Amino acid sequence: MERKKGYRAVEDCIFCKIARGEIPSKKVYEDDDVIAFFDVSPQAKKHILVIPRIHMEDALVCHSHSPSLLTKLLDTAIEVAKNEGLSETGFRIATNTGADAKQSIRHLHFHVLGGGPLSERIG
Ligand code: AMP
Repeated sequence: MERKKGYRAVEDCIFCKIARGEIPSKKVYEDDDVIAFFDVSPQAKKHILVIPRIHMEDALVCHSHSPSLLTKLLDTAIEVAKNEGLSETGFRIATNTGADAKQSIRHLHFHVLGGGPLSERIG
């Protein structure tokens, strides 16, 4: 069967391993499509990652293959922010895409950052 680039399960992908339960994570939400868990190296008082269970390299791949999943990831990121008590004081949602953005793990993830003033302004 032909495999689409960026859409396959990847054996040695850290986030695929988290999705399969092979690497522990501190989950705050999961369902059949997405998982949210605390970042192991937080850049804010609260730093949560939201990922698809299926391996997709980045937002570009997800936008091409499954735009509804991209929407679901953003919806989940906002729900997580609300559930973690970030909606009153504010939060940041970001997804790094590719080399210039310094994406270090090539499995799509949204960062949800908040819980106190953030270190830098973006944009
Ligand atoms: P990026 O640089 O946008 O690709 O972000 C990757 C993020 O994954 C970083 O914030 C890392 O701290 C985080 N990370 C790497 N390994 C783990 C892990 N095992 N559990 C939770 N977060 C992780």
